[in-house]
Order: sequence, then C-alpha cells, then structure tokens
Amino acid sequence: MSTISIIAFSLFAVVTLTSKSSRSNVKTRSRTDWIVDAASLLIHFFGLPILSGSIVYGLCEWLLSSYRGVIGGGWFSGVLAYVFLDYLWYWNHRIFHADTPLWSLHSTHHKPTHFDVFITARNAVASHFAMVYFWGIGISVYLLKDSNSFLAMAALGGVVNFWSHTEYSLPKGSILEKIVGSIFVLPIDHSWHHSREESRVNFGTFFSVWDRLHGTLHRPGHSPTAFGEEKDVSVWKQLVWPV
Ligand SMILES: [Zn+2]
Ligand SMILES: [Zn+2]
Repeated sequence: MSTISIIAFSLFAVVTLTSKSSRSNVKTRSRTDWIVDAASLLIHFFGLPILSGSIVYGLCEWLLSSYRGVIGGGWFSGVLAYVFLDYLWYWNHRIFHADTPLWSLHSTHHKPTHFDVFITARNAVASHFAMVYFWGIGISVYLLKDSNSFLAMAALGGVVNFWSHTEYSLPKGSILEKIVGSIFVLPIDHSWHHSREESRVNFGTFFSVWDRLHGTLHRPGHSPTAFGEEKDVSVWKQLVWPV
C-alpha cells in the first residue's frame, strides 16, 4: 500500500517539476513550507504505517483477538468495509472543519498558499490520531478474513488522494471526466476545498458521492484563485502544536 503511494507521489512530483508553471510555484515556497511538506511526507510514508500498525494491531490482539478474521464474504466484504470507512472519513473531515478545537489540528493541511502534490500529506502529527483511517485500516484488516480487496481499495484511495492535490484533471467537459467525477473526487474539487473562497465544501477525498449525497459538492465549473493563509506559521506550530 505504502509502495503504491510512494510510486504515485513520485510520478506526480516528476510531472509537477517538469511543468513550467507548477515549477515556479514550487520554487517560490518558503523554507518553512518545504520543511513541513517534506517532514509530513516522511511521516506519511514511513512513520504512520509503523505507528498505526503497531498500536492498532496491539489493541486488536488485546481486545479483539477472538474476532480475528471474523468477517468473511470474500472480496466484496473488503470493498464494502473500505467504502464504509471512507464514508466515516467524510464526516470525520467535515467535523475537522467545524468551529471546534479540531480545526486547529487540521489547519496545518490548509495553510499553504500553493496547491500541488507536495502538500498532500501535510498534517499536524497529533491530527493523525483523530483520523478514522489511522484506526480503521488496521481494525478492518484484523477483522477481515481476506483483506486483499480492502488493501487494494486503500491503495487506490492513496493514489486518488495524491492526484486530487495536482492540477492534472481529465479533459474538461469530457465523458471521461463526467464518469470519473460521478464516483471519485477530481483535482478541481479538492482545489476548492483548499480555496479561500469556499473551503467548507468537497469534504470527500476519494469518493465524491458523499458530498453529492449531503449537499456539500461544489463544482462551479472554474478553478479557485487563491489558497491557504498568507501569514507565516512556524514548523513547530504547524507540525507539533497547531493551536
Ligand atoms: Zn480539510
Ligand atoms: Zn488536501
């Protein structure tokens, strides 16, 4: 799963760096932004799988050992479990954006004034513990008899997440864009989620159907013009103490 994410990130990073307009955005970001982005990517690729795997597996062995592999049903159960987890994430993400202290935890993801693949994993360390994915992936794998389809969905979810933080959308107005966009989040959808104008929209990061279902899908047909916050916030405040 992590390997596929690394490959997806690397491909989008290369494409971003070979595009003249994207490259100028990359060049103008501050040293603070670079440190936060790079540290977040390292945590995402290497720290989280180890941390989440060991904590969640340990808890499952302690509390759920008699339920290990209890969910049968073959590949369908794995797909269904991931769809359910993604629906929980939709609400989890929406609650992050409510007027509560949880917004401070999530605000690190929304600080950058640029929008590209390098900001995908940018999150305060503590915020991971408040994300359903941190707990849900390990618990699902533990409970499923066959977790292959679940892990395949999770890998696809990771690819869509990196893609949605790029400017590389499908041909505008094409049938392909309509079909893919009716199921999945498109880059332009997530760019609106990072915009200054309308950030409390498009909470889904994999399936777009949850936003459609709950009236939070925002597709005005053009791209936002400005992202994030102008003020400079230290690495410490963004990664460790986002209050
Ligand atoms: Zn958000
Ligand atoms: Zn994002």
